[in-house]
Amino acid sequence: MRTTIVTVAALALVAGCASVSTQQEVQLGAQEAAQVNAQLPMLNDPTIDGYVNDLGNRIAHTTSRADLDWHFAVVNTDVVNAFALPGGYVYVNRGVLARADNASELAGVLGHEIEHVVRRHSVKQIEQQQGAQVGVSIACALTNVCNNQAAAAAINIGGAAIFAKFSRQDEIQADEGGFQNMLKAGYNPNGMLTFFQKLLAEEQSSGGGGAVSSWFSDHPGTQDRIADIQRMLSQTSRAQLQGTQTNDAGFQQMKQRLAQLPPAPPPTQGQ
Ligand SMILES: [Zn+2]
Repeated sequence: MRTTIVTVAALALVAGCASVSTQQEVQLGAQEAAQVNAQLPMLNDPTIDGYVNDLGNRIAHTTSRADLDWHFAVVNTDVVNAFALPGGYVYVNRGVLARADNASELAGVLGHEIEHVVRRHSVKQIEQQQGAQVGVSIACALTNVCNNQAAAAAINIGGAAIFAKFSRQDEIQADEGGFQNMLKAGYNPNGMLTFFQKLLAEEQSSGGGGAVSSWFSDHPGTQDRIADIQRMLSQTSRAQLQGTQTNDAGFQQMKQRLAQLPPAPPPTQGQ
């Protein structure tokens, strides 16, 4: 952990007067991923992780950062969220897999997170904010662990965590790029729309305190984003959509496996 803090401090010194290189970005992402994997409840199921990696890699390899070594992993919580670390480490919560009804809906979430990495959104925050006071709130929202003060301290890891809080503009960019990533990978981008609409309906019926509330705090402006996706869909020709797939066999196998597993542990609650 000390090594990480030193590295982040070194990066912070670089910030503001120089850019973070791809090598530094990947190194930082790998260190953050090791901490995430140790501190969050990871699902670690070969069938499910295998499918999410296949789908994620298929999408990521259509982007301008196909050369990164992409990693996809599933967090074992029903809280609905997904996030990306610098360098190509993408996490999706089990709650997303449970709510996705077809591969294109999951592809929409992955395509969005992949685009945050492609556009280096979190790296730009490091470069812009000397001292890298990038919030830890995403990790908190992922599992609600921050309802517990001790867990909040544990996950804070000296303020060094690079869980970026993205702007509305970043989110719109990630949707727009994610939409194109889906198309290039051969998935119907309508899945992005149907999944967001589903989350919005669940949020509205739960009155704002349910399993999807984290998604809305980390992904601001959902109504505007839905309108933007609808606009992109209306501008996509029938020819472009032709041949895109909504589902695949691997998705069905992943869902079957998910149904066999014991339920996710409940989010840690405050004492
Ligand atoms: Zn996002």
